Amino acid sequence: MSDTIAAVATATGVGSVAIVRVSGDEALAIAEKITKKTSFIPRHAHLCTLYDTNDELIDEAILIWFKAPNSFTTEEIVEFQCHGGTIVAEKILETVLDYGARLAEPGEFTRRAFLGGRIDLTEAEAIAKLIEAKSEDAAKILARQMKGELKKFVDDMREKLLRAVAFAEVTIDYAEEDLPEDMLENMAHQLEEIEREIERIVSSSERRRGLIEGFKVAIIGKPNVGKSSLLNALLNYERAIVSEIAGTTRDTIEEQIRIGSHLVRIVDTAGIRESADAIEKIGIERSVAAIEQSDIVIAMFDASRPWDEEDEKILLLIERYMNEKEMIVALNKTDLPQMLDTEKIEPFKPLRLSRENKGEQIVSALEKRLSRMAQGDELLLISSRQIEAVKRAKEAVAEAKTPLLTGELEIFTFHLTEAISAISSISKPVDFNDIMDKMFGEFCLGK
Ligand code: GDP
Repeated sequence: MSDTIAAVATATGVGSVAIVRVSGDEALAIAEKITKKTSFIPRHAHLCTLYDTNDELIDEAILIWFKAPNSFTTEEIVEFQCHGGTIVAEKILETVLDYGARLAEPGEFTRRAFLGGRIDLTEAEAIAKLIEAKSEDAAKILARQMKGELKKFVDDMREKLLRAVAFAEVTIDYAEEDLPEDMLENMAHQLEEIEREIERIVSSSERRRGLIEGFKVAIIGKPNVGKSSLLNALLNYERAIVSEIAGTTRDTIEEQIRIGSHLVRIVDTAGIRESADAIEKIGIERSVAAIEQSDIVIAMFDASRPWDEEDEKILLLIERYMNEKEMIVALNKTDLPQMLDTEKIEPFKPLRLSRENKGEQIVSALEKRLSRMAQGDELLLISSRQIEAVKRAKEAVAEAKTPLLTGELEIFTFHLTEAISAISSISKPVDFNDIMDKMFGEFCLGK
């Protein structure tokens, strides 16, 4: 028997409806007390009057009972849909707590859904991320994951590995010379195929991770070239500014904008917001850090000033990173008389920006790159936890190959078992207490 938990499931603030969710063995009994009614029908909407423990009227609300085990948590769930705003929902919650429920911890409903076997970790993770999703891209991918796409990948992979283990168990009983010639080699090929499949998914997930987190853009260039003007132009061009949040490192600011279905994050590690005279020269390390963290780099040059050693440094950075990152080269201030010798940057087909056309030009250049990066219909691993787990599985599979070919089948089985446990940890880890605390603790209340 588990205790009964309750929380306001809707966001705080003004809205027309708020939902209070109660889950656990006592949920229905509490509902009967607060409504002074009995005989509810599962999954029906009941209009009820709610009273507090002193018989004072709280509100009229819709009550829905999800009978165990057919509920999200697999426990008895009662939901009250009441008038929005914080007062009524808080009052209902208070009364539910007075009747013996306790306040749910963040993510506890989802945790119970997991413990009840209703969802696995991949689905739980997708739910957590969907709540915070800021772009259509993310919502689409996460919806696929909640439908069990990753779970299926994990199950299939585990199945293949288990078959390999079974193969070893059977052949272990044979003397080496009795084994069909190509049997071990065939198995080695299958393992290589598994390695390639994992590799493909990892690299596609890393390339497309911006679909979930937002694609990061760095703007680099010498002081006064027009970096912050460009940033402002982008923010004005796309009026859907999501937020300006303080970054994780001190002094970094991150601006988020939406371009089509994509979320774009412009991280100011390059000191865009700093006034030009605060730094005389570009901090090259800072630009490098900004580039390393980003998916797309916008490198700017000033058309109204002669080429100098600072421009040379930017050019070197472009050359160094052009195969690794999406690169947009921009020639700014083309509305002024041209002083820059552009010979060295012409091969990069620079965009020509002026006071008037910055936002428009850069947005369309970004759009092109974003849709290229977003391409692909492959499965996407949505967290570093998932990526680490498949990488561990891949390493174990790689290690299993040598003992396979030398006929040391016990060692082979040992490595494969490791691979199985790594891959399984994505959806249902054997030892999962730590992961669970970490994962569900990041949820919002009432989920
Ligand atoms: P940052 O140091 O790279 O961030 O450069 P700023 O964005 O602060 O721009 C430096 C100066 O150049 C400011 O006075 C801007 O108004 C000016 N500026 C930026 N872009 C253009 C442009 O396209 N044309 C002209 N004429 N001036 C520009």
